[in-house]
Amino acid sequence: MRIFFFILTTSIAFAQPHPSYWQQHVDYTMDVKLDVKNFRYSGTQELVYTNKSPDTLNRVFYHLYFNAFQPGSEMDVRSISLSDPDQRVGSRIGSLNEKEIGYLHVISLAQDGESIAFTEEETLLVVPLAKPLAPNASTTLSMAFEGQVPKQIRRSGRNSKEGVALSMTQWYPKLAEYDPEGWHTNPYIGREFHGVWGNFDVKLTLHKKYLVGGTGYLQNPEEVGHGYAEKTKKTKGKNLTWHFVAPNVHDFAWAADPDYIHDIHKGPNGVALHFFYKNNPEIIENWKRLQPDTAKLMAFFNRAVGAYPYKQYTVLQGGDGGMEYAMCTLITGERSYPSLYGVTSHELAHSWFQHVLAFNESKYAWMDEGFTSFIDALGEQVLNKDYSAFDGSYRSYRGLVKSGLEEPLTTHADRFDTNRAYGAGSYSKGSVFLSQLGYVLGPEMLMESLRQFYEAFAFKHPNANDFKRIAEKVSGVQLEWYLNDWARTTKTIDYAIKSVTPKDGKTEVVLERIGAMGMPIDFGVLYKNGRQTVHYIPLQMMFGEKPIPEAWKTEKDWAWARPTYTFMIDAPLHELEQLRIDPSGFMADIDLTNNVFETAEGNNTPKE
Ligand SMILES: [Zn+2]
Repeated sequence: MRIFFFILTTSIAFAQPHPSYWQQHVDYTMDVKLDVKNFRYSGTQELVYTNKSPDTLNRVFYHLYFNAFQPGSEMDVRSISLSDPDQRVGSRIGSLNEKEIGYLHVISLAQDGESIAFTEEETLLVVPLAKPLAPNASTTLSMAFEGQVPKQIRRSGRNSKEGVALSMTQWYPKLAEYDPEGWHTNPYIGREFHGVWGNFDVKLTLHKKYLVGGTGYLQNPEEVGHGYAEKTKKTKGKNLTWHFVAPNVHDFAWAADPDYIHDIHKGPNGVALHFFYKNNPEIIENWKRLQPDTAKLMAFFNRAVGAYPYKQYTVLQGGDGGMEYAMCTLITGERSYPSLYGVTSHELAHSWFQHVLAFNESKYAWMDEGFTSFIDALGEQVLNKDYSAFDGSYRSYRGLVKSGLEEPLTTHADRFDTNRAYGAGSYSKGSVFLSQLGYVLGPEMLMESLRQFYEAFAFKHPNANDFKRIAEKVSGVQLEWYLNDWARTTKTIDYAIKSVTPKDGKTEVVLERIGAMGMPIDFGVLYKNGRQTVHYIPLQMMFGEKPIPEAWKTEKDWAWARPTYTFMIDAPLHELEQLRIDPSGFMADIDLTNNVFETAEGNNTPKE
C-alpha cells in the first residue's frame, strides 16, 4: 500500500519557457465529403503555415497516416516481425483487400496559387516549396486529397468490432512539425503524435442519418439537430454538412455512426461533456453512469494540474481500446463499468498530458503515457480511496527489469525491440518517474512542479528538460542526476542495510548502495515502545533537501560515488523493533529483501 499525500498549495507562478522557445503555427480549413457506402472521401485543404522558426524552410512534409493500412507497409512489416506484436494489429494488415485497405493521396498542391510537385513516400508526403518560407513569413498551401477509410485495425477505421461505422483519426493530410530539433518526419509505424499547434475549421458532409462527434465546436447545431440542438433549419438532399471549429489544438479527430445515442452532461466550469455510444441495451446503463463520473474526474484533474482550457470534451465509442485526441477520446464501449471508467479516466487525463502539454510522443512517450498514468492513479487514490493505485506501476517496472528487456525511456517510441519494453517503460516506469520524484522532493513540491509546468507550457511542446528545470526551481533541488539515470539509462536502484551494530549504548547502521543509481534515503525506525521516526539522508548531488516533518532527523549528505554510509541511531539496539529503507514504498528499489532489519527473535540479521 502506497499513499501519496496529495496536498494543494497556492501556486506562485515563476516558471516560464526558455526565452528562445519558438513553435510553428498552422491554420487548417478543410471541406470534406464522405461516401458512407464505399468508405471513400475527398476534400480540399487550405493551410496557412506561419514560420516562427529562425530558419528559412525550403520544403515541408505531411503525414498520410492511412497509407499504413496496406499489405507490406512499414506498420504491417514491423508488426509481424516483432516478437510480441500488438494483438490488435498482428498480421491483419497483410490480409486487407483493395476495398478494405486505407489510403490517403494528395491529388494537387499549390503554394500561394503556384502549383508544386510532391512525392508520396508511403505515410509521408515530401513537398519542395515553390518559394522558400522565410522566418516570420506565412504561406498558403492549397490541396485536394482523397482517401479510403481502412477496415478498422488500429485506432481509426470503419466498422469496428462493436459496430461503430467510422472512427476517423489520423485521417487527413497533417503537416509535420518543425521545431528547435528540426523536422519530425516519423513514418506511421505504430505511434504518431506530434503536430503543429493551430486552428481548425472543418466541414464534413455525409449521409444525414449519421451522428458526428469529435474535436471542435459545432457551428451549425440548428441545421444538424442530433442532440446538439433542436433542428430548426431545413436541409435538402440526403446529406448533411457538419461545421466544426477547433481553436488552439494540434489534431482533429471525429467519429460517426447512424445508431449513436448522444447525451450532453454539464461538467465543471461550464464544460459540455458529450457522450456518443451505440444504442446497445447492454452498454447503455454503464454509459449513463459514466457521465457524472467523467465530470468528477475532470474536476479532479483541474484541481491537481490546472484548468481544462476548452469548453467541450467528447467521449466517443469507437477505435480499438482507448486513444486520446484533441478535445475528445475514442474508446471501446462494451466493457465492465470499472474498465469503462478506467479507460475514460486515462484518456481524459491525456487532455492535460498530450493535448495541452503536447509532448513529442515519439521521443517522450514516457512523459505522455507516464505522466498520464501517474495523474490517473492519483485520481484513483483520491476519488475512489484506492490506496493500491500506484502499486501496479511499480510491479510492472520491476517485472520489466527482471525480464532483461528494458531499454532506456529515451528510445524512440517506434524503435523499442519489444512492445513490452515500450509499454512497461512508457506507462509504468514513466509513471514511477513522477511518483518516485514525489519521494525525492516531497509530494507538495512535486504537485507544485506539475502545476507550474502546466501553466508555463500549455499549448506548447515541452520536453523532459523543461519539466526538470521547473521542478528544480520549485524545489531548490538539483535533478539532472535523476532525469539522466532514470530516463536515459537502464540503471537501477538497490540499497541495502549492510550492518546494524550496538555501539556505546547507541546503534550504528551501515547502508550500502548496490545499484548504480543514487537516491536520497528515508530510513524508518520503529521502536519497541511504538514510536516511529525517519532519518533523512539527502543525496549530495541534490544540493538541496525536501521539506520533512519536524519529527524526522536530517543526517549528513551521502555522496553518490561512496558505496557505503554510516550513521547512528541515538538508542540502544534492544529498544528497536524494525529498521526499514523507504517506509513509503515510493522508491523503486529493485530488491526489497535487503531493505529491512528486524530485531525480533531469530531474525536479527539483514536479509541477503
Ligand atoms: Zn495513454
